[in-house]
Amino acid sequence: MDHGNYINGQWQAAAGGATFERRNPADTRDLVGRFPESGEADVRAAVDAARAALPAWRRLTGDARAQFLRRAANLLEARKDAVAAALTREEGKTLAESGGETGRGVVLLRYYAGEGLRAGGDVLPSASPGTLLFTERVPLGVVGLITPWNFPVAIPLWKIAPALIYGNTVVLKPSELAPRTAHLIAEVLHEAGLPPGVFNLVQGARAAGEALVNAPGVDGISFTGSVATGKSIARACVERGAKYQLEMGGKNPVIVLEDADMAQAVELTVQGAMRSAGEKCTATSRAIVVESVADEFTRRVVERVRHLEMGPGTDARFYLGPLISVQSRDRVLRYVEQAKAEGARLLCGGTAAHRPDLAHGYYVWPAVLDNVRPDMAIAQEEVFGPVLAILRVPDFDRALAVANGVPFGLSASLFTRDLGSALRFAREIDAGLVRVNGETAGVEPQAPFGGMKASSSFSREQGQAAREFYTQVKTISFDKAGA
Ligand code: ADP
Repeated sequence: MDHGNYINGQWQAAAGGATFERRNPADTRDLVGRFPESGEADVRAAVDAARAALPAWRRLTGDARAQFLRRAANLLEARKDAVAAALTREEGKTLAESGGETGRGVVLLRYYAGEGLRAGGDVLPSASPGTLLFTERVPLGVVGLITPWNFPVAIPLWKIAPALIYGNTVVLKPSELAPRTAHLIAEVLHEAGLPPGVFNLVQGARAAGEALVNAPGVDGISFTGSVATGKSIARACVERGAKYQLEMGGKNPVIVLEDADMAQAVELTVQGAMRSAGEKCTATSRAIVVESVADEFTRRVVERVRHLEMGPGTDARFYLGPLISVQSRDRVLRYVEQAKAEGARLLCGGTAAHRPDLAHGYYVWPAVLDNVRPDMAIAQEEVFGPVLAILRVPDFDRALAVANGVPFGLSASLFTRDLGSALRFAREIDAGLVRVNGETAGVEPQAPFGGMKASSSFSREQGQAAREFYTQVKTISFDKAGA
């Protein structure tokens, strides 16, 4: 085994010695590495270490904790190219995207270092004249972080950085499909000098995740992943009274009105749908277009998508790389077939790539489907691949109804020049992230991130919104001694 778990400041194998391997999705002959397949004993050891480290860590000032985050930011910045290369090798996105994501990781660490000196409570007027009444935010405690493979630098760091700065200790269980990137993040945190046990990494799949969710020493779970897993985590957390935070799927629409800047609408729709091969929870998966411009929009989108270059993310020529796994590829192909069977028109792509140089990867040609009806599976369910469904509607009223007629509510965008339409959209769309003339994907670290309906649980991530989850409020009053 060439990688270990990181528990109590030490690299170590899984208790039973079991391992799993990760291969490059662009070429499965390339073995990325072997990693510990952790079970309950490993998770218990990590949680025990995090518990033991908690009292000293939470006693430090925010400013002292920030020093570790700043050091980690500098280390990550110095090895940005190596981390980006590892990310592309095991996840498949392009090197440019991996570099951007790693840079975002650096920004997140610096942003939360700054939060170490921000006010954490309120002074409140008391009904009694002699009383000083105030609130203080204190750490949640030991937090378990369970993360997916599609942003294996940014998502762990937008959980780890706020968890640490607000005084929590951490056990991270990253996706089994992007373990090497998580290993490199743990190396950075180790070299930043974090005290043993403050941050722990446990590699593995579902069993390791379940063990973390059920560990009695874990006070809260922050999860990003699929809806089914999120729901099972929520149930388990409610059962034992642990706090939880869930970020799950999306079915993100763009609405294109007749007064849209057509070139912009086309470019940002294609970008939102096809960059990272559509493997983003904020990816654009539906284009809801008013009939009067639908032919033009569709023709220009298809023209653009047909010419997108696909291949290994290591080659700068390519716009999109492979999907994450064979299961993912087959699921995307099934969705396209089902859409055709339900009456949608496939205008391009939607098949596995047979080019010899792509034969060892999980590639699907980016697909555009026209004549999609709102009740079709392709218009309702998250596909998580390079597939755009076009839904034609008579007017803005119907566009809004169709946009809101799904179980999800993560991100949505409107293309228009009309301020009235923009205002109405901002008010009436069911989405946590609302954009006008922007791409559905792409977030800024200082702004709250999260969705409505089945997309997320209650509290938001990133920015100062992260404080809600990673702290709890104490209400304190002081009175003078004696009568
Ligand atoms: P996806 O693979 O589509 O991102 P998943 O929800 O399957 O979504 O996985 C997200 C993360 O949750 C991964 O780290 C995975 O190992 C973990 N996981 C999967 N099943 C469970 C479970 N039952 N309990 C806890 N964690 C889980």
